Amino acid sequence: MTEPTSGVVLIVAIIVGVLGLAIGSFLNVVVWRVPNGMSLSSPPSACPKCQHPIRARDNIPVVSWLILRGKCRDCAQPISIRYPLIELGTALAFVGVALWSAVQPTGFWLLPAYLYFAAVSIALALIDLDTRKLPNRIVVPSIALVGILLAVASFATGDWFALLWAVVAGAALFAFYLLLVVIYPSGMGFGDVKLAAVVGLALGYLGWGSLLVGAFAAFLLGGIFSVVLLATGRATRKTGIPFGPWMLLGAWVGIVFGREISQGYLTLVGIS
Ligand SMILES: [Zn+2]
Repeated sequence: MTEPTSGVVLIVAIIVGVLGLAIGSFLNVVVWRVPNGMSLSSPPSACPKCQHPIRARDNIPVVSWLILRGKCRDCAQPISIRYPLIELGTALAFVGVALWSAVQPTGFWLLPAYLYFAAVSIALALIDLDTRKLPNRIVVPSIALVGILLAVASFATGDWFALLWAVVAGAALFAFYLLLVVIYPSGMGFGDVKLAAVVGLALGYLGWGSLLVGAFAAFLLGGIFSVVLLATGRATRKTGIPFGPWMLLGAWVGIVFGREISQGYLTLVGIS
């Protein structure tokens, strides 16, 4: 497949950036409601302080928060800066995925699967940090959805080998984390095991280099973070440290840099 022209890349980046703002706004709802077992569709969003429903014109991502100067129109209580930051962060992540996909051999066909994985990464990382949980309601359907969206990419490109790799990697990473939980039950939970299947699919589709780098980066980043927390006395050995955010951040290191890092390593040790 030939690489898209810079004009096409720019248009795609703008479209997914705007989409990212809207999805980021939805993720704010997901991150709050899913751990509390609430419906995503009803009731409509309301101010958490005064319960007044939020008007449509005050629900524009980032813009409304700036116009309202971070305060509720009805009760003037502050609205957390976290909401516009998540909207902006999701938009930037989506633009990043678009720019990344433009230089991949499979091109923009990767967008549906990896934009979805980006949105799920943001939601699950925040929920895990807030509640130390990875809800089944998000993780389990994501195993199927990422698989289906990767199958769409393979259908479009004819690269069924990549899909086979993805399924093998998803199963392998799932089994690896299951083993870790069985050996060392206090270290991780079954939420991490199920998330490993999603991460394995997303990494495996891009090849073994991405898979190994992504899986290893999770432990490296999570390990460094734990050591810093323990050394600064902000956690003890008994305090649980959420691992989901590091699995996901590690996965993105593998997705973006996995091929280069694994190739550099092989060159370094003189294999190729
Ligand atoms: Zn209010």
